[in-house]
Formats: sequence, structure tokens, C-alpha cells
Amino acid sequence: MQQAVDIVDDSPHPTNKIAATIAGKDKDGKDFSLSRTNFWPDDIREKIGTNTKIGNSSGTIHAETACILGAPVSENAALFVTDPPCPNCMKNIAEAQIKTLYIDHKGFDKDWVKRNEDDFEHMSMRIAEHAGISVYEIWRKEEKLVPILEVPEGYAPVIEKPLQMESHKGNTDKNWIASLSLAMTNNEPFAAAIAHDKLGNRYTLSAAAHPAIGYTSQSMDTPEGKYSFILQPINRLIMSAARYGFKIDAEYLYSSRVPTARELVNMVGASVTKIHIDDKEDSRDENGLKALKQLTDAKILNVEQ
Ligand SMILES: [Zn+2]
Repeated sequence: MQQAVDIVDDSPHPTNKIAATIAGKDKDGKDFSLSRTNFWPDDIREKIGTNTKIGNSSGTIHAETACILGAPVSENAALFVTDPPCPNCMKNIAEAQIKTLYIDHKGFDKDWVKRNEDDFEHMSMRIAEHAGISVYEIWRKEEKLVPILEVPEGYAPVIEKPLQMESHKGNTDKNWIASLSLAMTNNEPFAAAIAHDKLGNRYTLSAAAHPAIGYTSQSMDTPEGKYSFILQPINRLIMSAARYGFKIDAEYLYSSRVPTARELVNMVGASVTKIHIDDKEDSRDENGLKALKQLTDAKILNVEQ
């Protein structure tokens, strides 16, 4: 926790300075920890600026998500944050299979956190509960840990539409999309990518939009405010790649429709610069189309023809 607190003032955000630390074991069993603040990816800061929304999304990558993107492996890691996570980050934390979350108690006293208290209590915490993430409040000076949510032992969340993953042995020329053995045939929006592990082994990942882990379409709660309980396909791919310690090949990302504004910003944060989009007119909402135009006009993102 202290690591995150030590860097929080480095956040480029003028008002909402947030930091997080992720700690766990990498694939070789070695301990790792890294800390990140919320930040604007260089390309967005330099070519679009920090005062412009990308579609309806801020151009920042939140600290929790930045940690997941930077970690060698996120599965079973612990995450320490200076502030209670927003529902979008909590969905990412769940998909990345982080199991323990520590929040600095001082984070609960900040003004903007108080304004968004409902989002945390009514959405973030419900997402954590369904995904099986234990949440603790840390009192650093007092060396005290207050449980907010403890997951019962043996709890295993349902995953309605698991990520499809298979070893990729085919070529990776322009025909890679045709070579995908796509399990997503029932006409729902999905995304696919080729990713590689540290040893260079390649995998095809594909995912449809999905309720946050532990929810099903039937059991999903009614969302409140601007957030949704659904995790979009590209966010699932990015978080799942982090979970396994894979890196998405920047050249090989496919989406059946235009991603949402938040997915596009996260892609930039994950250093993906090129995307194949099947139906460039179709998107969940107008903001995706607007964000895509902003990012391609600024030459941050290329849409493959
Ligand atoms: Zn967040």
C-alpha cells in the first residue's frame, strides 16, 4: 500500500490523483510488484490533449487498470489502491482474476469519492462479491486491516461465456481472421486477438461481451448511473491476456463491430495500434463511432481495410 501512496502525487491528473500497486508471483514463481498512477497514454496526451473526451470516455487509463496492463501475470495477484475502484475497473479486476483488493481508508474520505459512493457500494462491491474478490480497508498508521468483504472459502464464480483460447499454429499473415475457428457464431458482438507468451508461443483469444464474472444474463443486477455490468469483448481480451501474462500482438486484433469509447482508450493503453473491424457502421452507441474517428484522425489508431 505504501508503494502506491508514495507515487500518488506523480499522477498527471490535476484533481483526481489515484495510484495502485499490484503484487503477485510471476510464471517462474518470482515475486513482483509494480505501481502505477492514473495517466494519459502519451499518444492521447500529445495528439488529442487531456481536456478532450474520447467519445464519452476520459482519455485516462485508471491506476488499477494500468497495474493490470503492466503486470507480468495478474491472476491471483493482490491489488492495493488509494481510492475505491470505479465499476469499470472492478470489472477489469474481476476479469484479470485478481482475488484480493486493499483500499486505503483515507480514500473513502475524499470529496469525489463521496460523490461516487453509490457507484462503489451499489456496483463495484456487487461486482467484487460475484467475482469472489475479498476487499479490505487498510489503516496504514494503525496497522489495521478492516474486512469489507470476505469471500467464503471454495467460492467459485460462474462464468457464462468463458473466453475461448487455443494455441495458434497457423500463419499470421492477413488471412489470420479467416483462419480463426470462431466459436462465436450466434451473431453477438465479439472480438478476437492473437497473443503471445514470454516464450513466444502464440494463442488465439476470442470473447463476446459478458456480464461481469459471477453474473449471468439472468442474474444480472440493474445498473445505476453511467456504468454497466457488462464487460465489452475487447476489454475482456485485454484483461484475459494480462491474467495469463500474454501480450496481444499489436497487429492482430479483430472486432466484429466498432468498440466502445472505453475499449478504444484501453486498447491505446495496452499499446494496440491497429484493429480490424468487420462492420464499421455498427457500434453499441454513437460514442464508439466518435471515439474511433478521433483516434484514427489523430493517427493513434489504424483501422485495417
Ligand atoms: Zn476506475
